[in-house]
Amino acid sequence: MLPSTQYWRLSERQVLNPNCDDEALLLLTLHSIGPRPIWRAGDVIEIQPHHPENVIDNWLDENELNGETLLTYQGHQQSLKAWLADRELSKINVGTKLSVVSPEDLLDKLPYLHKRSYSVASVSENGQLQLVVRLFKKDDQSLGLASGFLGQYCKIGQLVQGQIKSINHHHHIQQTQPIILIGAGSGLAGLKAQIAARNWAKQHGQQNIGDTWLIFGERHSAAELPINRLLQDLKEQGITKLSHAFSRDEQYPKYVQHILISEQATLQQWLENGAAIYVCGCLSGMGQSVHQTLIDMLGEATVESLQQQQRYIRDVY
Ligand SMILES: Cc1cc2nc3c(=O)[nH]c(=O)nc-3n(C[C@H](O)[C@H](O)[C@H](O)COP(=O)(O)OP(=O)(O)OC[C@H]3O[C@@H](n4cnc5c(N)ncnc54)[C@H](O)[C@@H]3O)c2cc1C
Repeated sequence: MLPSTQYWRLSERQVLNPNCDDEALLLLTLHSIGPRPIWRAGDVIEIQPHHPENVIDNWLDENELNGETLLTYQGHQQSLKAWLADRELSKINVGTKLSVVSPEDLLDKLPYLHKRSYSVASVSENGQLQLVVRLFKKDDQSLGLASGFLGQYCKIGQLVQGQIKSINHHHHIQQTQPIILIGAGSGLAGLKAQIAARNWAKQHGQQNIGDTWLIFGERHSAAELPINRLLQDLKEQGITKLSHAFSRDEQYPKYVQHILISEQATLQQWLENGAAIYVCGCLSGMGQSVHQTLIDMLGEATVESLQQQQRYIRDVY
């Protein structure tokens, strides 16, 4: 194991929106192997995805290679199949005679799969790393590589390689400041981490923690859905105000920006009291619409000024 390489054990995976016709939203819990790194709300982890087993098997078959061959590479021994799990298999020229290339040469030639970033949904003081992952389905219904790995075919107990990356410009909001958390879907991760940081500080005696207003959008309002139970739990843990948007349920605002419009006076009041706005989730759709709505409501100059004062943080992707 390289010294800078951080491994995590996947210990739990919960589907937050079961029985909905949507792409699954999953809450993952992982524990670090070895010393636990420090991370803060607003940070991300860069996950090294793995191929599903059948993809590696097919590639090995196509190239007439025995995946069970034990191979020592850079001082470690494991099967060729295990070595190939995180390599870019499509990049090799399959036309070349792989059977005459040594496995070591093969590994030297195959680049690693690109890492994907995920927002942390907990703080390191919680003792465990949580992530909220949307299982991405492509047009041909196959799963996205990293979300498929984390959300489906990585087994409970299996190790996952991931490096925490500190995002300094997400750290500027003081815990004594009121905060308006806005997001949808997988953006829950970044918002949940902000709430966890404030809860931890409160439990450890920090006084004058600022109020928290969570404005969150998902699709279905059914109270028994784990996503909605989780939101209620967060509320009971000390959120001052929780506002929901549900895009598939007509009795609620459809999207989070509709809440901003209908609660304009309250939003203004919170901002006058020094609140910061933290937005987390997809840029296309949610992130852009929230940004445009804030500009329409507050004016471009005010939005820019909030950004300059680091009172409007966009953790969008
Ligand atoms: C800072 C940051 C934080 C994030 N936080 C979260 C989070 O908390 N939760 C979450 O669910 N997601 C998060 N994401 C998104 C996440 O990183 C992944 O992009 C997402 O999970 C999809 O990855 P995938 O490997 O499953 O899909 P992929 O296999 O990457 O497929 C995704 C799409 O990209 C296309 N694609 C893939 N490879 C290529 C290529 N080489 N060229 C062109 N198109 C290609 C595919 O066709 C598909 O349409 C975050 C992203 C960033 C940048």
